[in-house]
Amino acid sequence: MTHHPQMPLRCWAEIDLAALERNLNAIQAALPKRIRYIAVVKADAYGHGMQQTVARLMHAGIDMFAVANISEAATIREIGIGWPILVLSASLEEEEPYLFEYDLIQTISTIDEIQRLNTRGASLKKKLKVHIKVDTGMGRLGVWHEQAKDLFEAMRNAEWLTLDGVFTHFAVAERDRDFTNLQRERFTSVLKSIDWLPLEDLLIHADNSASIDSFTPDNLYNAVRIGLLQFGISPYPKSLFGRVPTSPIFSFKTRIGVVKRLPKGADISYGRTKTLDRDSAVAVLCAGYGDGVPLIVSNRGCALINGQRCPILGRVTMDQTIVDVTDLSLRPKHGEEACLIGPQGDDEIRLEEFSEWAETISWEILCSITKRVPRIYKTSIATA
Ligand SMILES: *Cc1c(COP(=O)(O)O)cnc(C)c1O
Repeated sequence: MTHHPQMPLRCWAEIDLAALERNLNAIQAALPKRIRYIAVVKADAYGHGMQQTVARLMHAGIDMFAVANISEAATIREIGIGWPILVLSASLEEEEPYLFEYDLIQTISTIDEIQRLNTRGASLKKKLKVHIKVDTGMGRLGVWHEQAKDLFEAMRNAEWLTLDGVFTHFAVAERDRDFTNLQRERFTSVLKSIDWLPLEDLLIHADNSASIDSFTPDNLYNAVRIGLLQFGISPYPKSLFGRVPTSPIFSFKTRIGVVKRLPKGADISYGRTKTLDRDSAVAVLCAGYGDGVPLIVSNRGCALINGQRCPILGRVTMDQTIVDVTDLSLRPKHGEEACLIGPQGDDEIRLEEFSEWAETISWEILCSITKRVPRIYKTSIATA
């Protein structure tokens, strides 16, 4: 959808790229110097906008990008050449030629993939880099750790494939250290059991945002794959905050379309799920589920107006959300800004808190802010 830049905004996301760069610096500073940084930018860089995020991360000095598919990888290639790009998902057969054309790195889970890609490499007379993924307990992609030997053997014989890395992925890093450690042990024992592996020449990685707290410099890893944390969002439940100091780069804002008074006993919005228990002042905000305010925050979440929390009344609708402004110290005005996610005045609605209202995870909220919401980028210089 085109946003006409001369038109006023009803609802928008503000993204602070300097804060992205500061977060990256903070994460890198928390890790040993030799650890390479793989920036995960799948799903439009977690809704922050692929183009701007990738350009800033290139400038900020990351080592590799990771994406979900070849079209995301192609977007990165258009922005700048030279950065290695790891495709994290399995590719479909029809996508495979593009892996060679764009010089991508494919994640491998099966002997079947090795054979298909090796045959294609032979016919194109082109080599392809791959990372083998080991399933140590995630149960998604990767070869089950106890079956890894045969797959590595097939890889060794695939002359058109170059083994560039080996990795695994944690299932419960944000809440279960013991299981994460078990996954680490399984991964290490696979790496040690393949005696021909040139470990020093490979990129070996396991850690995501939630697990870098339990990262230990004495393991075999030399890279991390970070998504959420670079955007300043904690992957942890409230009780378990991480040690890397980052701050959010994203806020979600809208404006007040109407302010009006309603008497005690009036019903609010579709479904009549809320009846006012006092004479009230309400504000109708210019954003709804068509913008990414989830229906489930109806009668539950808040928005900030004037730095104060205004409870959502009744159901969120497609284009509008109604909030209670009766208790505000200053009567809000038509057109005034309201903040759905982010800081305003002395208060802040963190994405983590918003996600709890929505009974989901921060990753999903970021992916659910719709195309109708223009992303506005701040262009300040990073100071850290
Ligand atoms: C998305 C993804 C990541 C990044 O995870 P965060 O928790 O956002 O840091 C890392 N590795 C793989 C395989 C992924 O799919």
